[in-house]
Amino acid sequence: MIAWPSVGVLSIQGDVREHMRSLDEVGAAPSAVKHAYEFSALDALIIPGGESTTMSKRALAEGLMGPLRDFRASGRPIYGSCAGMIMLADEVLDGRPDQETVGGIDMVVRRNAFGRQVDSFEAQLPMPAFGREPVHAVFIRAPWVESIGEDVEVLGTVPSESGADRIVAVRQNNLLATSFHPELTGDTRVHQYFVSMVRRDS
Ligand code: GLN
Repeated sequence: MIAWPSVGVLSIQGDVREHMRSLDEVGAAPSAVKHAYEFSALDALIIPGGESTTMSKRALAEGLMGPLRDFRASGRPIYGSCAGMIMLADEVLDGRPDQETVGGIDMVVRRNAFGRQVDSFEAQLPMPAFGREPVHAVFIRAPWVESIGEDVEVLGTVPSESGADRIVAVRQNNLLATSFHPELTGDTRVHQYFVSMVRRDS
């Protein structure tokens, strides 16, 4: 079987290899991309977890922010996990003053939102969009989605002690974002969902 679609993993910083492995497992053709000229051959893009401030700084320094925004404007699907979710947010709270994003999802995201005591945690979360079994979600200094616009679909939440559920997975048209890291668990259903979005779109 020919691997398809061609999905680039933005490779300026973050857990690139893990996303490549998950993409490979769901039959896509992954490649690590770090130059704008590589974008034209891609059907879709993943922005991995890592550190969004560093990613923003490097993308700006290497002249990639414009091409990333153009990629998004072309309508091709993008999936962002954790720092990648922050990169897809139209607005960031607790970011650095010079931090920029690719944007595209009408949401406000709060960086490092779960706080120091629970810097990292794991949870079994029901997310019917990804399948019947709950998703084992790994959060590492994760953001949450503070608010969303009306065109944003919520795919997953974490219950919180204050009673307010925290949004941790969203989709707006061809853009998908999760606060957690499915690429670290061996559960490929989020990647499968993303690749299905791309295949349906092509
Ligand atoms: N806290 C990181 C940031 O602000 C995200 C952490 C992650 O991607 N694991 O970018």
